[in-house]
Amino acid sequence: MLYFSRTLPDEPRTVSSDQMEVIPLGGLGEFGMNMMAIRHAGTILVVDAGLMFPRNDLLGVDLVVPDLRYLVEHKDEVKAIVLTHGHEDHIGALPYLLDEIPAPVYGTPLTLAFAEGRLSEHRLLDRVQLNRVQARDTLQVGDMHLEFLRVTHSIADSIGLAITTDLGTLIHTGDFKFDQSPPDGKTTDYSRFSYYGERGVLALFSDSTNSERPGYTPSENHVQRHLEQIFHTSQGKIIVACFASSIHRIQIILDLAREFRRRVVLVGRSMKENLGIARGMGYISVPAGTLADINEGLQLPADQIVLLATGSQGEPMAALGKLALDKHKNFRVEPDDSIIISARAIPGNESRISHLINHFCRRGAKVYDESRWSIHVSGHASQEELKLMLNLTRPRFFVPIHGEYRQLYHHSLVAQETGITKDRILLAETGDIITFTADGAGIRGKAPVGRRLLDDSGMADVDEFVVRDRQHLSEEGVVLAVVAINKSTGELEGLPELVSRGHLDEKGVSAILAEGKQIVLNTLKESTEEERADSLVLTEMIRADLKRFFRKRTGTRPMIVPLVLEI
Ligand SMILES: [Zn+2]
Ligand SMILES: [Zn+2]
Repeated sequence: MLYFSRTLPDEPRTVSSDQMEVIPLGGLGEFGMNMMAIRHAGTILVVDAGLMFPRNDLLGVDLVVPDLRYLVEHKDEVKAIVLTHGHEDHIGALPYLLDEIPAPVYGTPLTLAFAEGRLSEHRLLDRVQLNRVQARDTLQVGDMHLEFLRVTHSIADSIGLAITTDLGTLIHTGDFKFDQSPPDGKTTDYSRFSYYGERGVLALFSDSTNSERPGYTPSENHVQRHLEQIFHTSQGKIIVACFASSIHRIQIILDLAREFRRRVVLVGRSMKENLGIARGMGYISVPAGTLADINEGLQLPADQIVLLATGSQGEPMAALGKLALDKHKNFRVEPDDSIIISARAIPGNESRISHLINHFCRRGAKVYDESRWSIHVSGHASQEELKLMLNLTRPRFFVPIHGEYRQLYHHSLVAQETGITKDRILLAETGDIITFTADGAGIRGKAPVGRRLLDDSGMADVDEFVVRDRQHLSEEGVVLAVVAINKSTGELEGLPELVSRGHLDEKGVSAILAEGKQIVLNTLKESTEEERADSLVLTEMIRADLKRFFRKRTGTRPMIVPLVLEI
């Protein structure tokens, strides 16, 4: 089914003032990595610069950011970068973008505070211009007139955008839902959205994440009631894992802790950082005496503790992962403890999370996860809310954004239910150039897009198709570590095998690899039986240890690919 006309790539044209182009550079037809360029009369506005966390099968890759070629090619036109909210899939690629294109950045205070953290890690803070804006503020960028529109989402201070040119107004919702009772009392700005609807909206770009869910997404309040029940019945420690950016959720947990006379210990670096930022800016109020440091926490009886932990996506090296494997340096999970995973599994992370749950069950803990307990609500609009957005803005054209193809497609069906005919729906994917003229809209051409795969140093650039990536391999090389584990005994079968390609000179290579083998043997020796039984965990441990070894021993950063065979 073709909803639109599509033409083959044609070549660099300038965009005249009677034409506007919108180019999704990430996030359409894929999950995460949201980024969009809006181009009109010699000006490009960039909306969001997000990253994507890699799937399990992308070994040696820590994060994924959009290919920035298109923007680099039109560098002089880029006049502003606007961030809709502080989630990683919207701000995580900002350091890489600013490194290439130091355009001024606009966002609400909390969003910019989270972005600052990223930028200081990359030592970019003194080189960039961050401009705070508030909902209903306006901004002129070239011929584009912007207004920031408040929306509700799982993080405070989220905005959508109205972008007006002489061709008409585009509405970009950002990530949103219609929470009627948000914890901070700040609802989506219904009246501004309907104001634009009344004046006439050329196109609506709306969040598709939950377009397959019927009905309405419940309010954050809903989570509070269900968490309260768990607090009520828990006798041991309560360990809650959520995203460090889930400011509303963290507030709920702090309030419940006070109500149930428990003190909260933060475990995980990003949890401490984000809470510090949000508290400093007044987005979180910490009830007096609720937070405890680790030493205080260690003195408290189990039924007076809440651990607020990072690692809700099953990352083996994050706080929750360490607790699951009894590797945390301060706390142990005991029978009767309650583990609450208050986040949704990002697609691709389900098996890692399930692994963690197995480990917690082995320790006799009670595990509450999203599958059976209402301890998480989405921050994204369900179908009825999506219809409300469509009905408020009444756009001439509709472009579903933020989602894999299935979500974009289902959003297009939802739109049709509200009376938007197929010929007014542009089902675009990352890289499509959506063109608006006085005569209408269509997808005309393709911009260069793709992904950059990075390791956590942010240094090594890993091409998506590792096999084809001659350049990376010739610069840093790859080390393959093959380990065979007997599945029934958990013992090592034979010696680990290390193969190196393209990263060491012939001379001395065998001696270094022999040392590397010792490192792997050591990792295995120091691992528990439980860790050896979990190939995902073991893979991660071997990778971390070898990475450290090569960095110290040879100063190289090869891509480490551990293969744990269970035989
Ligand atoms: Zn978001
Ligand atoms: Zn998002």
